[in-house]
Amino acid sequence: MPAFDFTQWPPFISDKDRVTLQYRATTYALAHGLLYLPVGAQPPAPTSAIHAPISLFPAPFPRVQFEQAQRLQSIYNVLYSRIAMDTEFLDQIMGAEVGIGRVDEFTGQLWSGWRDLREKGLAQPLHLGLFRSDYLLHQRDSDLSLKQVEFNTISSSFGALSQKTAEMHRSLETSTEFFHASAHLTADNFPPNQSISGLVEGLAAAHAAYNVDGSRILFVVQANERNIFDQLWLEYELLEKHSIHVVRRTFDELAHQAKISQKDSTLFIETLDRSPVEISTVYYRSGYTPDDFPTSTQFQTRFNLERSKAIKCPTIPLQLAGGKKVQQILTEPGVLERFLCDESKYGPQGVFSTRALAELRESWMGMWGLDLDGEIGVKQARERALELVLKPQREGGGNNVYKEAIPGFLESLPPGERPAWIAMELISPPMGLKNYLVRAGSGASIETEVVSELGIFGWSLFGGGKVISEKEAGWLVRTKGKDSNEGGVATGFSVLDSLVLV
Ligand code: ADP
Ligand code: MG
Ligand code: MG
Repeated sequence: MPAFDFTQWPPFISDKDRVTLQYRATTYALAHGLLYLPVGAQPPAPTSAIHAPISLFPAPFPRVQFEQAQRLQSIYNVLYSRIAMDTEFLDQIMGAEVGIGRVDEFTGQLWSGWRDLREKGLAQPLHLGLFRSDYLLHQRDSDLSLKQVEFNTISSSFGALSQKTAEMHRSLETSTEFFHASAHLTADNFPPNQSISGLVEGLAAAHAAYNVDGSRILFVVQANERNIFDQLWLEYELLEKHSIHVVRRTFDELAHQAKISQKDSTLFIETLDRSPVEISTVYYRSGYTPDDFPTSTQFQTRFNLERSKAIKCPTIPLQLAGGKKVQQILTEPGVLERFLCDESKYGPQGVFSTRALAELRESWMGMWGLDLDGEIGVKQARERALELVLKPQREGGGNNVYKEAIPGFLESLPPGERPAWIAMELISPPMGLKNYLVRAGSGASIETEVVSELGIFGWSLFGGGKVISEKEAGWLVRTKGKDSNEGGVATGFSVLDSLVLV
């Protein structure tokens, strides 16, 4: 089979048919809850919504690399669970005594709070992770491979809306057959995407492990969240399929509504009628950025939840495990072996084959710390700037420094802050790929050259040195205009997409 020609996408379609496709796409999105709250202040009970930004055609993605990404997810679930349970490793890499917590204030604050708590003894040994491993296709001459962008351990969003987007593209296929524009656009090339039930299965597993009748799951959310429907779909699934109720609260609300019992650190939340409800699981859709912690009160609330008996998704150590620095350290010799090949620690069933390790490593780009061997890390970053991106220990998009901007940035970066940054080789996605991007409001679909990023969701319930259960949990595609370096849908740079296997 000849390699897929990415420059031939999207297939040709007449203006009239494109208008019909767009009509069917946006009305589907509006009818099926593929939605955002509008920009600006909203009434307490919203009265209107807009469709999420979407692509008209799904992104072409080779079946081989898609299946590889799905296969890798189980290993990543186990790997990051074990990192989160390795206190010594996290202290060394992320801690505020010898690790990057010394120079990165936010990392240091989280780590210090966790250290204080564990010295007093933590009430809950289990952790829950809802993960998303992100990838881009990397093209070298005619060779295509799958390369990891990053691994997220906190607040991974768009699970629900990505399922809705895949369903939207499938519905376009059913209703219009995409006007026979491409032989690839047939139902059997649209893989299923059950991310809502998949992610909720993880939350329900934690709730079941907690095992108290009538307890609820707490979603810790940001005030004025526009991506609320993505979260609500998880709530509906929890209630309808698992009979589990959800309470949503911001850190500020929790500052006076969260109570922890003296006796055994049970977490209770005051409800409207003031009868407290017990919390089985705390699911963070906030707390990943310093912006969520404007004062010490929000940190105190986070630490209170951390010390409670509720199962946290994620715990502080699991959040720290998701740091870019950890991703870089994993590429150093022997580190992957520490977590995946130690039979004395994990037993004969708990170790992975050399082939599995090789497949993981093949999916990584080169990375190093800016503090590498004195000046060498910075020197290499300056010399190779045009092939690199620099990343700090931050989540949520908009924090990286790219290519031409690197030398100037290195000039301005105080040497003491270098350890908080990693350099990563740039992935080169196929050139010439285009799509029609549709945003609410304008009524236009804009054809532009794009890059599509695949995310694979997974979850893991673990503790006491063991992974209790873990699973792959669906996928996501975000497509951004080629000229924007960052890929955040929420920040307006990209659209939700799905994929067609080629
Ligand atoms: P965040 O945690 O803020 O999402 P990422 O590591 O995902 O940080 O970087 C944000 C975006 O930057 C990615 O979605 C991707 O578009 C781009 N990016 C990051 N790393 C690379 C890379 N090595 N090559 C090309 N693009 C990258
Ligand atoms: Mg990212
Ligand atoms: Mg991230």
